[in-house]
Amino acid sequence: MLHEDLLIDGKRTPARSNKTRPLTNPATGEPLAEVADGGPDDVNVAVQAAHEAFYSGPWRKMNSSERTKVLLKLSTLIRDYQEGLARLESQNVGKPIREARDEAGVAADCFEYYAGAVNKVGGQTIPVAASGLSMTLREPIGVCGLILPWNFPLAITAWKIAPALAMANTLVVKPASQTPLTALRLAEFALEAGVPEGVLNVVCGAGGTVGETLNKHPLVRKLSFTGSTKIGSRVMKLASEDIKRVTLELGGKSANIVFEDANLDEAVPAAVWGALGNAGQDCCARSRVLIARPIFDKFVSEVERHLNHLRLGDPLADETEIGSLISREHRDRVLDYIDIGTSEGAELVCGGAEPNASELQFGAFLSPGLFTGVRPDMRIMREEIFGPIICAMPFDDEGDAVRIANDSAYGLSGSVWTRDIERALRVARAVETGVISVNTAHSVHLEAPFGGVKRSGVGRELGLAALDHYSELKSVFVRVGS
Ligand code: NAP
Repeated sequence: MLHEDLLIDGKRTPARSNKTRPLTNPATGEPLAEVADGGPDDVNVAVQAAHEAFYSGPWRKMNSSERTKVLLKLSTLIRDYQEGLARLESQNVGKPIREARDEAGVAADCFEYYAGAVNKVGGQTIPVAASGLSMTLREPIGVCGLILPWNFPLAITAWKIAPALAMANTLVVKPASQTPLTALRLAEFALEAGVPEGVLNVVCGAGGTVGETLNKHPLVRKLSFTGSTKIGSRVMKLASEDIKRVTLELGGKSANIVFEDANLDEAVPAAVWGALGNAGQDCCARSRVLIARPIFDKFVSEVERHLNHLRLGDPLADETEIGSLISREHRDRVLDYIDIGTSEGAELVCGGAEPNASELQFGAFLSPGLFTGVRPDMRIMREEIFGPIICAMPFDDEGDAVRIANDSAYGLSGSVWTRDIERALRVARAVETGVISVNTAHSVHLEAPFGGVKRSGVGRELGLAALDHYSELKSVFVRVGS
């Protein structure tokens, strides 16, 4: 069993209260780790360390090529330990090892990308009416509080830390209570790579205490939060009190729109994986599959056939395609949605139940479910289920498809499947979302901005756009002549 401390000012340290929190492997129910359970005092010390590191430490003063080398070394360390990180992530979250390996690779790529950006992003010179030179400088913000979810701990920690460090900020990271292990490893690798003490601190603990203290701390200048829309709204409200900068990456209920001319050999498996990657615990899950009426029955029966062949089981086994959900409590919430859908009149075509296999009985497994007979006003079509459940619905024409897709409080991702490029572009423009893909269910490319509209969030992560959210632009005017 692992024993993990907090990481504050470059040192592993128990919580000041000496409290710890037990973690279990969600796939087996067995003990996995005992983790220091931080509280407000720990946050205060960590924020103070980050504040001092920002104003007095070497990080901000390092020239850009030195900072680049540190981030590249961090990327190399992640690659060197990719398998170990993937196993840890798989055991902590319950996700298939093949997905965890990809996630560790994404984390390494992310540091590499921002290492390359450090010395390529700067300000501008601007023609102004007065005689002289106007220019902008891009400066770090200061102490950033980074609050993480449990579904992609490794990738999302990297998405936040890498651009924040690239812009020379200092950080206090609060992982989700259930999944702090890989964030702690990344912070240790960062120290080894040369990130100075105090620059990257990790305080594990509950959202209601550690998270709230970060939200309210006067020395924290920016909050970057990924999680539910409900908590995101609370973070934004508290941030407004002293005008902290905020980035919010929140929930989704994305649509996958399949026209009758789509390549069905590709669209069917993508409809399955676009909804069920990470067992559907994915903010980008395309859980509303909208299908042109003439191909609806055929498409649905193909999706059902795929679902019935998915390999559900031990997350550490190479062949496993669907692992465990994050916890039995979360599985109960997903099962409640099965009841809600059925009682609203939808038809559960397959799955949506605890598997019978005896070796899975101690884990939080759930067989992937498919609903038909759904309407846009049903709760299962409006609320984020965050589990392996697909809702399939027919549409009559392009306008109908766009109207159903946009009939949502969320707007995070989505897909459109068609061979007609003009239609693809029309629909991509018309769907209210932060990210949309044509003829693929992939949403995330490190080089491109990622984020939501409506209740899915504020601001963008990834790409060069993320650097705007971890820096301030200062205008400098130099008078020349009279
Ligand atoms: P959550 O319950 O909102 O928790 C997210 C984080 O916020 C956790 O670290 C949590 O700590 C912390 N927290 C809880 N209360 C807080 C408070 N009052 N102040 C500050 N922090 C607080 O979300 P989750 O269940 O971990 O993650 C699932 C959600 O995240 C889904 O809605 C999903 O769509 C969304 N998500 C969005 C994206 C995106 O990029 N848009 C990516 C991944 C996930 P505890 O763990 O201690 O509760």
